[in-house]
Amino acid sequence: MYYNLAQLLKEPTGSTRDYEIDDSFVGPEHGMDRAQGWVQVIRTHEGFLVRAELATQVNLTCSRCLDQFELKSRLKMEEESYPTADPATGKTTESSEELGGVIHLDDQHILDMTEVVRQYAISEAPIKPLCCDECLGLCPECGTDLNREKCKCNTTPADPRWGALAELLTERRE
Ligand SMILES: [Zn+2]
Ligand SMILES: [Zn+2]
Repeated sequence: MYYNLAQLLKEPTGSTRDYEIDDSFVGPEHGMDRAQGWVQVIRTHEGFLVRAELATQVNLTCSRCLDQFELKSRLKMEEESYPTADPATGKTTESSEELGGVIHLDDQHILDMTEVVRQYAISEAPIKPLCCDECLGLCPECGTDLNREKCKCNTTPADPRWGALAELLTERRE
């Protein structure tokens, strides 16, 4: 997901480039996650406007049962980016450091979407990921995955209302 914008930088304001993305990236849990969609880069007065719409598939570990699962989400972004070097002289422009911008371009004017997508995926990922809302988790006694089988430990909650709910959830999963 690297795009060279050196040529676009020399073009007038309003010029655009369209790219398709169908690529993998290293996600929040360091797995090979996936992003598909499009990116459009528009030349603005001071730099670029980067627009993108992506469908991402990120591998996460459930915080209850520790199973791996895939979180699908849609990423829509519109961010400004400023070149760090003048295209004509190749000199680093002072102002770009101050202007910053979320999307960083190196002095070769390469747009690195991989890092952008990675940052978005990390911010999208829940702090306590769940494979599903009804996940029963692991037995605190023996470590059995209660989504898959019942164990013989006596950890059934005493509250009958909770017991009824647990039964209901088990039925729904079967
Ligand atoms: Zn789970
Ligand atoms: Zn158990």
